Amino acid sequence: MKKVLLVAFVLPLIFSTDGLARADRKKEAVWRWMDSVKENAVATARDIWEYAELGELEFHSSERLARYLEENGFTIERGVADLPTAWVATFSSGEGPVLGYLAEFDALPGLSQAAATPTRSPVEEGGNGHGCGHNLLGTASAFAALGVKQAMLENNIKATVKVFGCPAEETLVGKVYMARAGVFNVVDVMLGWHPGGGNAVTFRSSLAMSSIKFHFYGRTAHGAGDPHHGRSALDAVELMNVGANYMREHVIEKARLHYVITNGGGAPNVVPDVAEVWYFVRAPKTEQQRPIFEWVKEIASGAAQMTKTRLEEELLTSCYEVMLNEPIAETLQKNLEQVGPPPFDEKDEEFARKLAESFENEPDSILLDTEIKELEIVPPDKWKWGGGSTDDGDVSWNVPYGRITTACFVKGCPGHSWQVVSCTGSSVGLKGMVTAAKVLAGAGIDLITKPKLIKAAKEDFVAKLDSKTYECGVPDSLPPPSRRK
Ligand SMILES: [Zn+2]
Repeated sequence: MKKVLLVAFVLPLIFSTDGLARADRKKEAVWRWMDSVKENAVATARDIWEYAELGELEFHSSERLARYLEENGFTIERGVADLPTAWVATFSSGEGPVLGYLAEFDALPGLSQAAATPTRSPVEEGGNGHGCGHNLLGTASAFAALGVKQAMLENNIKATVKVFGCPAEETLVGKVYMARAGVFNVVDVMLGWHPGGGNAVTFRSSLAMSSIKFHFYGRTAHGAGDPHHGRSALDAVELMNVGANYMREHVIEKARLHYVITNGGGAPNVVPDVAEVWYFVRAPKTEQQRPIFEWVKEIASGAAQMTKTRLEEELLTSCYEVMLNEPIAETLQKNLEQVGPPPFDEKDEEFARKLAESFENEPDSILLDTEIKELEIVPPDKWKWGGGSTDDGDVSWNVPYGRITTACFVKGCPGHSWQVVSCTGSSVGLKGMVTAAKVLAGAGIDLITKPKLIKAAKEDFVAKLDSKTYECGVPDSLPPPSRRK
């Protein structure tokens, strides 16, 4: 009797450990394959780093990444969602689950900097640079998809893997307009990542946000001779800002409101007939952000009324906060631990030490992070919010989504800085990129081979939505910014 019990207890254990080991062996074979072909990915990321093109203008970068996938057996649908630099790449065995990866490739203005150089040294004075590492971001996502394709071929796995080439993340445009067009809804689960200073699953949300320009039109006149004939558009901007600043006291503390005057007139002795102010309006949740945004728009129209000027609104974009998914986060964590941190060496350490000399703040004692941060899953009422916003939010409200970060920058690098540009073109950034690609590939293989995982991710997604539905913050009638006259 005892023997029978023991067998009944031990046998399933043996089988399940063996089953697990088999699944992990599949991934290990893919990771070895990825190591053997990583130079191709590195060359792609380096090329995109060199192009350093701004959002909606990333023609070379977008094409370079699409070609990398095309040359490796993916088919590309270009120009999706009326965005010339957006595309969807697909490899499919015709049935099974659909897995997606998010790719980006836009750079930032004014950050041009030589690669792997620890002192300020622009390649082109005032030129663009990859100060957010999107050259690594896009390439690792594509490289991960190639890893999944390899696993599908080697193990006869039935599935579809897609990579979404998403332009203009820095202006939060690409994924919002793609989500509005329903581009992402074809996948069962979506994975993504962002280069950073450490290795972790990103289990934190981001702020919902709208970006809008207010244009005021008045009537010009001599500032001293006949100001009574004039109607100042600048007055409208100033009164609008006063109104918005008074509003701050009466909105939730976590709301964020910032503006710049992008046109305030040309000379003091000319009553400005045109003036423009650009606002970002943010709050942790879309349901909190949208009423505040409506209030700001009412303030603008009040300012126009007070100054007898005419108001035109120019909504650029509007994005959701990121919806977190627990089963995907756990799958990513497991793979992050299996892959391990980027293999930095003594040369990388030396570069890091020199670069850290340029930091304003006292550098961290660890400059290249080789720790894997523990995953702390918390319920929605305890979620943490990062200070920024990302258009990943709109993806995460359409399909179950999870993301990670890996160490691609020296710890303590200021965000969007020349120091980051230096790292994202160096072996530090490129090693972090290969690590991210392996983790994303491993998690992708787990998801497409374990139907239970996708089911759990979908159930969690429905529960977190809590009966709310996605309504894009940009109306259907509005074309993407680069498509407007
Ligand atoms: Zn970024």
